[in-house]
Amino acid sequence: MAQNNHAFSFLKGKEFSRMGASWFASYWHYNHCNKNELSWQKCESVARRISYYNNTEQYHDDWRREIMKMDDSNLNTNEIGLTGAQVKALVSGISITAAPSSVTFSHVPPLNINFAQNTFTFHGIGQGLFYSGSIANGGFNFVYDCGSESPAMLRTITLPCADLDFVAISHFHDDHVNGLPALFRNHRVEKVFLPYFDAHTYRDVFIANLVVNGIDLSSAAFALLTRLYHCPVDADIPRLDFDLPEAVFVDKPGYPYSNNLWEFRFYNRRISDCDFQFIQHALNNLLNGQSIESYIRNRNNYDDLKKIFKRVFSNENLTSLVLLHWNKANASVKSLLTGDVRFDQNLSNRVVGDLGAYDEVILQIPHHGAKNEWDSVDQRILSRTTAEVISVGCSNPYHHPNFNKLTEYIQKGLFGKIQFVFENYDYSYHC
Ligand SMILES: [Zn+2]
Ligand SMILES: [Zn+2]
Repeated sequence: MAQNNHAFSFLKGKEFSRMGASWFASYWHYNHCNKNELSWQKCESVARRISYYNNTEQYHDDWRREIMKMDDSNLNTNEIGLTGAQVKALVSGISITAAPSSVTFSHVPPLNINFAQNTFTFHGIGQGLFYSGSIANGGFNFVYDCGSESPAMLRTITLPCADLDFVAISHFHDDHVNGLPALFRNHRVEKVFLPYFDAHTYRDVFIANLVVNGIDLSSAAFALLTRLYHCPVDADIPRLDFDLPEAVFVDKPGYPYSNNLWEFRFYNRRISDCDFQFIQHALNNLLNGQSIESYIRNRNNYDDLKKIFKRVFSNENLTSLVLLHWNKANASVKSLLTGDVRFDQNLSNRVVGDLGAYDEVILQIPHHGAKNEWDSVDQRILSRTTAEVISVGCSNPYHHPNFNKLTEYIQKGLFGKIQFVFENYDYSYHC
């Protein structure tokens, strides 16, 4: 089909072309986010465009999504003088007219991509981090951090699953952990991962309750599992075969927790053997035979846990447990969760070493986009991000994310990839 330069091949592209992408972006932003956005007035036939706009409301979210996929260079040529990056910012709900001392965000629906049965969500809890994953139609579920500066936000979120196969805790700052007691009350939690926690001490193993119809765990592997780890035999749940890790030393490279469908790798910044031993020792003393899963249920225990890490680290953010996870059957997209970590060379090298040559990365920008942590992300990781997610509060007192860094990204043309997760709006994806 012959098309002129201004026609778009997607749904209602003809109507869209009558307004133009940049005009649409500006006017949409004006209506939904910021009345100071007035670029749309700088052109002919405003009234006609507004009438097209008003008659096509049901397509607006699709069009926003289409704009995010467009090449910046195609968006650059427009009569109202916006750059491609600015057009994308506008449809993302980010005001380009903000004073340069701060960034203003607006509450706009997230732009999601749809694939299949594995769903991952950065929950919109404001300043903090709450991430959950659901694999194989809810057969396997996990959570990475659950905290918010506005705890009331957490109460509005319910996960659809009753059981969580694991909860990983990046570090013990309130905005990452204060939702955990409620989470443990509402869900049965199989396994908890902490920074610098040597799971082998407890002869514990990650039991993947991965329910996949028709696939049974081989009897040999099952026998081994019950013998080594005394896991209850549940005849009703067919379990998928998985690799049995000897141990998980989360500060060392190459100790994956994995199953045949999904792989999880944990990383911490490398510390001295002496400090590592100290943490193990102190944790053991603290738990005194109790499992970490039960100990962590009590909010009052968090201060004691914090103290252990504070003995070793001047900055608690540096203890953050990093998690890389991916679909082993389709490993082209890997998710990198970073808590509030600051990467050092060694940590970067280990993570990069686990990325394949053609992998794309969905990256949680560390520490809500704070300058030093953002700067610490290795170019080898940044160069392959397919989405960069910043979980942040709209009006947090820390001024996350850093405005200059954000501007730098806009100028580099990387802006279209950034996803903001703030109050009430999640970012979900499937891979
Ligand atoms: Zn923190
Ligand atoms: Zn934080």
